[in-house]
Amino acid sequence: MQSPITQIADLIRRTDSFLVASHANPDGDAIGSTVALGYILEHMGKEFSLYNRSGLPHQFDWLPLPGPIHDTLAGAEGNWIFVLDCGSPNRVGDELSRVMASRPIANVDHHLGNPMFGQFNWVDDRYPAVCAMIADLAYELEVPMVGPLAEAIYLGIVTDTGFFTFDNTTPAVMELAARLIRQGLNPGAVNAKIRNQWSVNRFRLWGESFATTELFYDGQVAVAIVTQGMMERTGTSAADCEEIVNFLRRLRGARAAVILREEPDGGFKFSMRSSGADNVQSVAALFGGGGHRNASGGTISADILSAKVRLIEALGESLGLV
Ligand code: 5GP
Ligand code: MN
Repeated sequence: MQSPITQIADLIRRTDSFLVASHANPDGDAIGSTVALGYILEHMGKEFSLYNRSGLPHQFDWLPLPGPIHDTLAGAEGNWIFVLDCGSPNRVGDELSRVMASRPIANVDHHLGNPMFGQFNWVDDRYPAVCAMIADLAYELEVPMVGPLAEAIYLGIVTDTGFFTFDNTTPAVMELAARLIRQGLNPGAVNAKIRNQWSVNRFRLWGESFATTELFYDGQVAVAIVTQGMMERTGTSAADCEEIVNFLRRLRGARAAVILREEPDGGFKFSMRSSGADNVQSVAALFGGGGHRNASGGTISADILSAKVRLIEALGESLGLV
């Protein structure tokens, strides 16, 4: 029995054309892994298209690309479909979800509870980022991890480890970063490109959202919200809300942080963060969401008051606060 990584490497060697996709509203790991795999396929002389339902968000404008990231499947060709960083298949968005049933899928992911929806499934939650998996694939395929490929991999590993601050910061991922730096990546310059991308609108949105912060269970759970009205007033979008929840975690004594973001059609997207043994993945799963032990998310279709109450109660139960 071959290991999943050898199976995926063999698949790449013997196949000519690929579509590479990741989840809508992509974070740095989703975009980084899409782009990094694109560079690997380019190096191997393969045909490929890159796809993301949300296209390339502005904060990644600086990232060199091996080809355009299509936001529609019209013009995005490819025989096998790589689905990266998707803990559930529907996270790629409706358009690609519809065609996935009839196409061969290689599922490469690091989320708990991935339902193994591919013909090939390389799913390993010990990896802190899919970009770290793609780095191992590059190594397996003997593709040098330098230049734009190295930058894309670095983007994903710093995003998903919170710049090497989360519990998933393993020795292996530090060694991978060391290897990238040793081979020429400039961490100061790349970190500046990744981090210093904020608009003043985003600052204003964060101010409004922080002002809504409420504490529960003697400050052990912190909750803040973002409404459609706030985004309209400040001229921002969902992408500007990413990471607010990581900052809520900084409140002294907060074991879990939650942000609820209103969706255009009502309902709320929630994101939760915790540390150590405090499991927010199992709480997200109660609402049909998922993620990792210390970082999870999902959606609730309810008004803000009942969405908040239901999440806070579920967290209180799960963390033993009631
Ligand atoms: P974020 O809060 O940054 O959007 O997501 C945190 C983690 O939860 C990520 O690993 C992400 O994959 C997962 N996650 C977020 N939203 C959903 C969702 O709606 N469904 C599932 N299954 N996972 C989610
Ligand atoms: Mn990821």
